[in-house]
Amino acid sequence: MHVTSSQIESIAGFTGALIEPGDAGYDEARAVWNVMHDRSPALIARCTSADDVSRAICHANQHGLTIAVRGGGHSLPGHSTVDGGLVIDLRELNHVLVDPVTRTARVGGGALLGDVDRAVQAHGLVVPAGVVSHTGAGGLTLGGGVGRMMRHFGLTIDSLLGAEVVLADGRTVHTDARELPDLFWGLRGGGGNFGVVTEFEFRAYPLGDLLVLATFDPLRRIHEVLGRGEATMAAPDARDELLWTSFVRKGPEQAPWLPEKYVGTAGVMSLIEWSGDLDEGREILERIQDDLAPAASSLDRVPYLAMQQITDELLAPGTLHAYVKAGFTGALTDELIDVIASEGAKVGSPLSVIEVLSMGGAIGRVESDATAFPHRSARWLINVPGQWRDAADSADEKRWVRETFAALEPHLSGGAYSNFMEGDEQQAADVAYGSTLARLREVKRRYDPQNTFRLNQNIVP
Ligand SMILES: Cc1cc2nc3c(=O)[nH]c(=O)nc-3n(C[C@H](O)[C@H](O)[C@H](O)COP(=O)(O)OP(=O)(O)OC[C@H]3O[C@@H](n4cnc5c(N)ncnc54)[C@H](O)[C@@H]3O)c2cc1C
Repeated sequence: MHVTSSQIESIAGFTGALIEPGDAGYDEARAVWNVMHDRSPALIARCTSADDVSRAICHANQHGLTIAVRGGGHSLPGHSTVDGGLVIDLRELNHVLVDPVTRTARVGGGALLGDVDRAVQAHGLVVPAGVVSHTGAGGLTLGGGVGRMMRHFGLTIDSLLGAEVVLADGRTVHTDARELPDLFWGLRGGGGNFGVVTEFEFRAYPLGDLLVLATFDPLRRIHEVLGRGEATMAAPDARDELLWTSFVRKGPEQAPWLPEKYVGTAGVMSLIEWSGDLDEGREILERIQDDLAPAASSLDRVPYLAMQQITDELLAPGTLHAYVKAGFTGALTDELIDVIASEGAKVGSPLSVIEVLSMGGAIGRVESDATAFPHRSARWLINVPGQWRDAADSADEKRWVRETFAALEPHLSGGAYSNFMEGDEQQAADVAYGSTLARLREVKRRYDPQNTFRLNQNIVP
């Protein structure tokens, strides 16, 4: 439907900016992180309050406009923009109010991880979330939230205490474990399916600097590296403070510790991170470094904020095309490692990777039906993000992601992480939500029976 100026002016009482095609700033306002999704909304409603969000939802309902909700704009399938529809843009709702006494933080629905990190770290605290600081806290949280603190403190949803939500009928409600508990349950892993969150309340935890062991080896050593990762993280006494991430990728230009001869050649790079007592961590990481005897490595103490920003520039918004597939596994078997090696050898873009990320720890101590995120028993998340700069590479890069994932899939345990999906997967909702899907459908029927919020990993009511 075409929206005329008079219709836009008719959003009575809207206090934020309304931006439409032809307006100065329209192109900047409609841009999202993944440049593959170049879409032209009829209207961008930059909300400054829950009331604005409510007015925008009612306006869209009245005029039959499809709603896209934009937090940080990092949705890989481009769910936060829509051709001809209405974007509810939350970027001005980016406040972060920290209470250092109760160790809690109230976070606006459009805040970025960097906003949250800076505010809580000023008090020596952390809210566990993702690893790139320009990602939106909103979309990341609603999908679950994996990141460097997840084994230590759980997924982002495990720190969520409550939320203010504007529902499909325009009502604003508060939800937590006692108030509308079904909605609170659904928000923790069910994505943006139930409403627009204008404020999250999180628990925060004390955290000092990190210790980070970075290693790189040629691909022929992959069994030693991933085998050591499996043995370390599967050990019954594996510490929650320890996180193991390996990437099969081309040696990056940006790592000063990596000798020139490895830059641009496929290998296995690992980041083994420690978030506890530094002396104890140094002993553990030095032992791993000695045992692995990597071709290149560095062991450094790194401030949390610095670590969170380490790839910000490389992955800057509006500079990359991206396409992703991911799944879970209980163990890094020899067969799985063989496939990771053979597919990893074919990697094209220097920014495309096969990421092998340890889960477990605090994540696994939450019951699989306690939140809408069911994949609690997974021990590894295998993520295949293709990321490239030149549109001419799109077909090859997407093919590499699809073929790599198809080769990996027989060795995975099923299920997918809704924030690392495209939505073109077979039975996407089943793989994303698994055992929680039936209950999620009930919650969807209760709070959004018309499927007003459908641009997400959608739960059809
Ligand atoms: C560079 C990069 C790094 C990433 N790193 C991580 C990581 O470390 N860990 C991880 O778990 N994920 C990560 N992701 C994936 C990320 O969690 C998802 O892309 C997520 O959707 C991003 O949230 P956003 O608010 O930026 O996205 P948007 O594109 O703004 O929104 C994505 C979806 O969330 C919904 N949404 C967003 N905010 C709200 C809100 N306030 N209320 C209701 N619905 C909302 C939207 O409707 C939309 O469907 C990364 C993605 C990128 C591109």
